[in-house]
Amino acid sequence: MSEKNLAQAIREQMKSQGKRFWAGDNISEFVDEEQKEVLINEATQAFEQVLDTLLIDRETDPNSHGTARRLAKMYFNEIMAGRYDPAPDATAFPNDSQDRYEGMLVVRSELRSMCSHHHQPVTGVAYIGIIAAEKLIGLSKYTRIAQWCARRGTLQEELCNDIAREIEKATGAKDLGVYIQAVHGCCENRGIMAHSSLTQTTVLKGAFKEDGNTKKEFFDNIKLQQEFAPR
Ligand SMILES: [Zn+2]
Repeated sequence: MSEKNLAQAIREQMKSQGKRFWAGDNISEFVDEEQKEVLINEATQAFEQVLDTLLIDRETDPNSHGTARRLAKMYFNEIMAGRYDPAPDATAFPNDSQDRYEGMLVVRSELRSMCSHHHQPVTGVAYIGIIAAEKLIGLSKYTRIAQWCARRGTLQEELCNDIAREIEKATGAKDLGVYIQAVHGCCENRGIMAHSSLTQTTVLKGAFKEDGNTKKEFFDNIKLQQEFAPR
């Protein structure tokens, strides 16, 4: 390894620019595709050291042979991809004609995330509701945005806020709600080892917060969705 590796250089660059780089933050403007490959190599070496410290024989155990590299790639390209990838392209279409859609839209998005405390899986579903504003985005984009926020080290409470903020940005909607229910690996696989660790979080903005009927319509829609696709 050289004196100063790339990860160190990028960390210093972010610090000098006052850029926060917590587990749940997107840092895509500091890491391009080429740099990501170098970082995967650096992380592979670091994971090799962790395996060595855990006294796992990387040389003769065939199942542990490529594990350091598999872990490095998995972190960058899969379970934490939302930190290194830029926001998904969510082209907006105008919704400002005479017959514009003014109703509520509720989208159910499957979520896979990871808790930033223990790096254990978080599995669940987000219900994203908006009252359509001046623009609309494709239905699949809601899930792409939610997944982009989720594929980081997260806290469910923060994730709920992040999704609400990004949906607001992409759609311009001021009236919106995000409800997440998820099970947490860190409760099921360690610590209290509870097999039903269902956690629910809700963020409501605008009419979803202030108008009882809108709020009720949102949660009624969630119930209908759950009857249709229970989990
Ligand atoms: Zn945890």
